[in-house]
Amino acid sequence: MKLAIISDVHSNLHALNSVKDAAELEGADLVVCAGDIVGYGAFPNECCRIVRDLANRSVLGNHERAALTKVTTWMNPHAADAAIWTSENLSASSREFLETLTNGVRFKAGDASVAMFHGSPRSTEEYIYEEDASEALLGPEGTDVLVLGHTHVPFVKPIGKRLIVNPGAVGQPRDGDPRACYAVLDTSTGKCTIRRVDYDIVAAASAIEGAGLPGFLADRLFAGR
Ligand code: ZN
Repeated sequence: MKLAIISDVHSNLHALNSVKDAAELEGADLVVCAGDIVGYGAFPNECCRIVRDLANRSVLGNHERAALTKVTTWMNPHAADAAIWTSENLSASSREFLETLTNGVRFKAGDASVAMFHGSPRSTEEYIYEEDASEALLGPEGTDVLVLGHTHVPFVKPIGKRLIVNPGAVGQPRDGDPRACYAVLDTSTGKCTIRRVDYDIVAAASAIEGAGLPGFLADRLFAGR
């Protein structure tokens, strides 16, 4: 079975559509999303609808929580502005969908037992980079693949026969490559690959400017930082 793993869409409709097309083209059987569907970009409702229809499982990200509660005290000013804008522009059906999300999910994909969280199993806000990804995070047994998001920096780290995977960010990469990012796990071989796809960055950035969101959020898409 081919599992497409997406995360950190951040209301970037153009990037999400490119990833959706690419995942369909390569025949993904299942799509899952590790949170932060909204925040930063100009298309929260469109992205909620697509992820709701596309992803078999999704978890709650810190930007979902901020959009639902308007609590932004821990955010930098650009992120806080975008969270308030998102909250005010969220449709009733988007809000309803986001309210169904939980901090973590566990599920079977083919033979693989997968656990998925936004930040870490401990916290939606914890940043786990490749060097932090440890056996302790995976837990003693029962989880073959741990999926995390939040950092916007992709990695696949094998730990024994198990894996910790961050699929990077669909909608706001921060590893210096501006292309949309996701991961594909072949559950029969245990091989997980990071994929990059081009998308219309100019259109996504001008929509951010047009919506009155901070220009910094548009500019960073071109740099992938
Ligand atoms: Zn994020």
